[in-house]
Amino acid sequence: MKRGKILVIVAPSGTGKSTLIEKLQKEIHSLEWSTSYTTRPRRQGEVHGQDYFFITEKEFISRRDNKEFVEWAKVHSNYYGTLKAFVDEGLETGKHLLFDVDVQGCDSFKKIYGKEANIIFIEPPGIEVLETRLRKRGTDREEVIQERLNNAKSELKRKDDFDFKVLNDDFSNAYTHLKQVVNSILES
Ligand code: ADP
Ligand code: 5GP
Repeated sequence: MKRGKILVIVAPSGTGKSTLIEKLQKEIHSLEWSTSYTTRPRRQGEVHGQDYFFITEKEFISRRDNKEFVEWAKVHSNYYGTLKAFVDEGLETGKHLLFDVDVQGCDSFKKIYGKEANIIFIEPPGIEVLETRLRKRGTDREEVIQERLNNAKSELKRKDDFDFKVLNDDFSNAYTHLKQVVNSILES
């Protein structure tokens, strides 16, 4: 059995990554979404087991100490982690796995999987646009928005460090470009 592909999508919070990924999943059915574990409070509309597995900090630490995560990171004051068993089993059974992690997670994926990890950075048109999108989304408190914007500035410095880059200015153009990149990885 041919090993599955690893596709990792990274972007500063508010760029439009979730919106792009949702459309991608509807159109490319061979992509298997990796549901991360997090200690972040659930947002309205988010579904446990689908968007994330929402767990307590105590459970996260216990799973982390049991080495259940292939990678984990503290992002915007919350813990996030990717389940190792899901990744190992998926790749061995030829599934193409799709991940949404932060830049620390990307560095871990590169360290573990090297060239096998295809990392796509989604770039926002600018910090001001990012702020507008975060406010428009209306899911975060003011201090959370400020923290995410602050982190975005350092994440943006990493935009040229990965395998592919897609600018999300006009949504439709960005989606077309992203789909092209994903298809090229799946066909490689
Ligand atoms: P992320 O997952 O990167 O944090 P979201 O997908 O939640 O970001 O998008 C943040 C907000 O920006 C949402 O309200 C979304 O509808 C909007 N958005 C996404 N892409 C665009 C775009 N190209 N132009 C304008 N608004 C966008
Ligand atoms: P959000 O709280 O907006 O859903 O996600 C915040 C950040 O955490 C995003 O940058 C997202 O990519 C990242 N993230 C989500 N799941 C994981 C994960 O399993 N590992 C890592 N390292 N980051 C993650």
